[in-house]
Amino acid sequence: MELTSIKGLGAKTESILIENGIKTPFDLVTFFPVRYAFFELSPIEEASPHELKWFEGVITKKPSVFNVRKNLTRITVEVSVKERVFTLVVFNQTYLLRLLNINEPIVFLAKVDLHYKQVTAQSIRLKRNFEEGIKPVYGIDHVGDQKMLDFIHQTLPGLMPKFRDKIPSFLREKYKLIYIKTFMQEVHEPTSEKNLKQVYRRLKYEELFLYQLKVQELKYLRGFQKGSQKHYDIDKVKAYINHLPFDLTQAQKQATNTLFKDLKSPHVMKRMLQGDTGSGKTVVAFLAMIAVITAGQQVAFMAPTEILANQHFDTFNTLFGNHKFIIERLTGSLNLSDRNRVKKGLREGIIDAVIGTHALLSKDLSFQQLGLVITDEQHRFGVSQRDTLKHKGSNPDILYLSATPIPRTLAMTLFSDIDLTVIQEKPRGRMTITTELAPLKQARKFNQMIESTLSKQEQIYIVAPRIDNDEDSSLVSTEQLYKYYKKTFPNTKIGLLHGKIKAKEKDGILKAFQARKIDILVSTTVIEVGIHVDYATLMLIFHAERFGYAQIHQLRGRVGRSHLQGQCILLYQGDEYTAERLSVLETTYDGFKLSEFDLKNRGFGDVLGTLQSGHKTFKYSNDFEDFKILKLAKDDAKEIVERYHNDELNDEKAISDYLLSIKDL
Ligand code: ADP
Ligand code: MG
Repeated sequence: MELTSIKGLGAKTESILIENGIKTPFDLVTFFPVRYAFFELSPIEEASPHELKWFEGVITKKPSVFNVRKNLTRITVEVSVKERVFTLVVFNQTYLLRLLNINEPIVFLAKVDLHYKQVTAQSIRLKRNFEEGIKPVYGIDHVGDQKMLDFIHQTLPGLMPKFRDKIPSFLREKYKLIYIKTFMQEVHEPTSEKNLKQVYRRLKYEELFLYQLKVQELKYLRGFQKGSQKHYDIDKVKAYINHLPFDLTQAQKQATNTLFKDLKSPHVMKRMLQGDTGSGKTVVAFLAMIAVITAGQQVAFMAPTEILANQHFDTFNTLFGNHKFIIERLTGSLNLSDRNRVKKGLREGIIDAVIGTHALLSKDLSFQQLGLVITDEQHRFGVSQRDTLKHKGSNPDILYLSATPIPRTLAMTLFSDIDLTVIQEKPRGRMTITTELAPLKQARKFNQMIESTLSKQEQIYIVAPRIDNDEDSSLVSTEQLYKYYKKTFPNTKIGLLHGKIKAKEKDGILKAFQARKIDILVSTTVIEVGIHVDYATLMLIFHAERFGYAQIHQLRGRVGRSHLQGQCILLYQGDEYTAERLSVLETTYDGFKLSEFDLKNRGFGDVLGTLQSGHKTFKYSNDFEDFKILKLAKDDAKEIVERYHNDELNDEKAISDYLLSIKDL
């Protein structure tokens, strides 16, 4: 069935819907409201100056009109609400004028302070046109919510028989969740607030349950995957370790041992190495890389950007100066003949290891014997991309590197198909950074500090949440800051970086900053976590109140990465409470502790938000409270997956189908 076969839905509306991801009637009915509007009358005694509510009254005097200026008209009308009389003010709803007759019952939406007679109403309607209830808001521009509801009314009944519940009945009963068909009705038109709560409860559970089913299924399947044992040459690896310009920390040694055990085992490794930036993960990954090469197999090392790929390539060659391995780069900017040469080398097994970007995922790339895939900052890659590389070898081992500290409890629940190793300790002799808090108004005070940093030939990051003046204007933007600092430090080279700048250009700016051709880099949070700029020692973060602890911690991790002392200034807008909250960052430098705080204060959606760099993993479940549901869903999913594989899931057809459909993940 076509969308346009719905009455009242023409080609123009269809194209808007398609833009919003609605291509079929099924998409339409499973496009859930982004929120709900509550049309409910409140008794005037429950008025609050802080809350918008609907009240009922009667007009007692004819309205008067005043043209404030062009396009701004003010209507004033007197209403009585029970024994009280209010002067209602409403702007621009001039069509009301002829309707507001004396004795006409009306309703109005307003924040009402009972101490005052005058009330500014957001909306006035005739009582007879007001329908109480909870109305869906779909949030699609140019297609009204009532229209959407009309379309859904026409479509849903016909599709209803097709819906099968993916939540098995015994779990539905266990948690008293509503049935899918009830849900499909209530999600679009909740019949009460109580039922709306049930809608959300089901949405959250279902989302987390289906996620966990995938994870548990992957974990189950991995138990049977045979990988190749890597018979690495430990003496050779040790020789490389001994030639490193530093001693490995205890944590690095432990992580290395764990990885090497995995490499030797016949099971497929899938492990995440977590640790703050600068904790020395990359070195550990390099050792695993060397081990696999000495075992006669190839390694692919994938970084999220070209800059980081190049950085890794250079670091490898510096750390293991006279190695005899053949290591190549494969990035988007490689010319065709080089690319073909690298491809040939990988196919024929001449090249031992390749360090690159997404280019490594290209379909026509094959390896002679791929033994290990390392993915740096794995969160930048979607599940499907990660898994493409996996298929390039016969079950290569997989190592993810992540600089985002996620509380262990959360990580274990979310990624339970991945083993986790954490590097807590940092190499000794590394300078820590100092962090100072100041109200944003006092930003100028730090010009002195900028001046002295510049005079030492050191570099500065300036970070702000907003790009330009198009968005929320209560925030200082990178563009404003760029102009301001250009004017204040006219003899300084200043760069501007944000999400609207193309990837190529962005790489150029970062390269220039790394090469000290730029002194001050004004940026949104797009700067890569892993980027290494030796001489960057000062960072100013504007609107620190906008960020979670973990995110600020990651941001400040970009200064003080060398022997030079780093400094971070947190400029905030807000009251003492804001200052108090942020002050934790002045004393705590443990990324895991900070993300633990975030989990409690901001919920796990936020913690994952940093991990996914802006990308939300879950649509409905994000609060700390939802974490409990996540844990339940994990246990449930585990049980289901086991029963499924033991052929004990007889009457749960929908769930069997679902598991079958995700088998190839
Ligand atoms: P990460 O990948 O965790 O951000 P890296 O492995 O890139 O950390 O290490 C950061 C810096 O510290 C690099 O310059 C690296 O050479 C150096 N480094 C790593 N391990 C040690 C160590 N044990 N002692 C001293 N310096 C180290
Ligand atoms: Mg790194």
